[in-house]
Amino acid sequence: MADVQMADAETFAFQAEINQLLSLIINTFYSNKEIFLRELISNSSDALDKIRFESLTDKSKLDAQPELFIRIVPDKVNKTLSIIDSGIGMTKADLVNNLGTIARSGTKEFMEALQAGADVSMIGQFGVGFYSAYLVAEKVIVTTKHNDDEQYIWESQAGGSFTVTRDVNGEQLGRGTKITLFLKEDQLEYLEERRIKDLVKKHSEFISYPIYLWTEKTTEKEISDDEDDEPKKEEEGDVEEVDEDKEKKSKKKKVKEVSHEWQLINKQKPIWLRKPEEITKDEYASFYKSLTNDWEEHLAVKHFSVEGQLEFKAILFVPKRAPFDLFDTRKKMNNIKLYVRRVFIMDNCEELIPEYLGFVKGVVDSDDLPLNISREMLQQNKILKVIRKNLVKKCIEMFNEIAENKDDYQKFYEAFSKNLKLGIHEDSQNRAKLADLLRFHSTKSGEELTSLKDYVTRMKEGQKDIYYITGESKKAVENSPFLERLKKKGYEVLFMVDAIDEYAVGQLKEYDGKKLVSATKEGLKLDDETEEEKKKKEEKKKSFESLCKTIKDILGDRVEKVVVSDRIVDSPCCLVTGEYGWTANMERIMKAQALRDNSMSSYMSSKKTMEINPDNGIMEELRKRAEADKNDKSVKDLVLLLFETALLTSGFSLDDPNTFAARIHRMLKLGLSLDDEETAGEDADMPALEEDGAEESKMEEVD
Ligand code: ADP
Repeated sequence: MADVQMADAETFAFQAEINQLLSLIINTFYSNKEIFLRELISNSSDALDKIRFESLTDKSKLDAQPELFIRIVPDKVNKTLSIIDSGIGMTKADLVNNLGTIARSGTKEFMEALQAGADVSMIGQFGVGFYSAYLVAEKVIVTTKHNDDEQYIWESQAGGSFTVTRDVNGEQLGRGTKITLFLKEDQLEYLEERRIKDLVKKHSEFISYPIYLWTEKTTEKEISDDEDDEPKKEEEGDVEEVDEDKEKKSKKKKVKEVSHEWQLINKQKPIWLRKPEEITKDEYASFYKSLTNDWEEHLAVKHFSVEGQLEFKAILFVPKRAPFDLFDTRKKMNNIKLYVRRVFIMDNCEELIPEYLGFVKGVVDSDDLPLNISREMLQQNKILKVIRKNLVKKCIEMFNEIAENKDDYQKFYEAFSKNLKLGIHEDSQNRAKLADLLRFHSTKSGEELTSLKDYVTRMKEGQKDIYYITGESKKAVENSPFLERLKKKGYEVLFMVDAIDEYAVGQLKEYDGKKLVSATKEGLKLDDETEEEKKKKEEKKKSFESLCKTIKDILGDRVEKVVVSDRIVDSPCCLVTGEYGWTANMERIMKAQALRDNSMSSYMSSKKTMEINPDNGIMEELRKRAEADKNDKSVKDLVLLLFETALLTSGFSLDDPNTFAARIHRMLKLGLSLDDEETAGEDADMPALEEDGAEESKMEEVD
């Protein structure tokens, strides 16, 4: 026991969040305590992976303990359960850092999840699985030996602190870690052989190292009466009466003898080597869970082998949900474990799968890569490039299979649509295939989402392009003035309301040979009118030319130009952006990004064109007034108000909402025929509105 060496024990305080987590684990009732064993075995397996990987380049690393194993020892007398591995072990510094003083990013997230009602079995996903030991133990002792350090003992009953002691007198491990759980009185079921075997089968069947259980074996031994007069020889066994007829033949007695042995309790044949048709859904599920620590089953699986010039086997899984840190940039996500001829090499090989598919989990086992491959070699490795290409292809196939079931695809899309869009942005080779997987709401899709493919089948005669509008939400765009003409013509418009849509659509540019056209940018041409209609329009445009010029003079640099619109039907005006510049939505997104490059924004943003609607009553009245008197103050005020309102309806934000509000308030006062004494001498942009008859009639029109 550690108490023996307490003399030189160093005491450490648990980091605050870890301490909170421990209290939560200890003081809350959880029904699913059994998962502690899976977590500890999984840690052992990771530690074994690490030493095996190191030994590939330096065999001597295994010298202290050549065998790689996990052993489980239940001790009913002392009420302890020990999990022993010959993995990499921990140095003293590792012990202090990993088991108590350095909080993982997942600590807080896990507590929040727990408090929100999440199941404790999720612990492994948050990278704090070790602490699940306290679900069943009141005290935990970790004895560990790393090749680079002496053997140390970590001990804690939680309660705020732990100790670390050099282990001089204890049994020496050679290399590895032994975790001893002092079980709580009501958790002694975990000492039962049956229970442990079932648990290993349930949660840890696919661990690729042998798991041995220290089992008690009772053998019956026959002893003849004359050999042994006193049947006391058995230590723990009972004496049993033998069959009647046997007894007649010889006067012998059976004695039970108890012995111990290591019993192998997992199959280690890797599941990916087996034939897919022979593997049940449950087996895939339990492999998936042991691979990922997920508490739920996978959503989809793809098990395949590639043969020919290059050979490898792989199983890929799509989870049901996105992990809590899917887009955490501090953490490079890659969940494919790389094996070479059955030997685990690494689980964060960046070259294996592109970043946007980082949520796909699984294993790849190559027959062609060298066993002692280094990270540097991997970077230029041609075999790996081919494997990667195949994995991407298979992933997309798998996504298409998910799409065959509507409910599944909805789940998948909610969780991972951002990844698909990132893929469209980054993976030019697979862009077209990924585009098939996109889904959007549209002016015609109702509550459902539509694919681009379905959109194309609904395109009206003569419609050449695919139309879309970007914005903050479905609600914000569905009644946008930009859609008026398009709706009237019966053209469907896709709602792209995810921030990343702007980036994705910017790269996609076309689908199925049809251009993707933004309803809010310049260059929206809807030319399917008769000659007569065109002529009429041209005339109208001409008659509004001078108003356009007047408006531009009033607005100055706020707009690039003012033109007569083709796209609005009801609203008086709208603001469009250049075909290659940012949309209003993009401007919003970029403003929200604190670290954006300012030089970029100055030439990408702004460049607004005001489009006016010649059929709108307000515009017609404005035109008349402007023609009658170019310097009519009410014209200036109205134009400014129209501009600011258009900023809002077109999805921009107001730089100075107070000026806008002041303008509206003055209009209100005018409408209500109230006196306004404070209006004199204000901002030149806000000329006082004289209370003459003309002003009042203008107010009526605004209403
Ligand atoms: P995770 O395993 O997800 O990183 P844990 O809380 O389970 O989180 O473990 C914390 C760390 O402690 C591990 O990352 C590892 O460095 C170390 N550790 C835990 N168990 C072992 C073990 N059996 N052998 C070696 N190191 C271990």
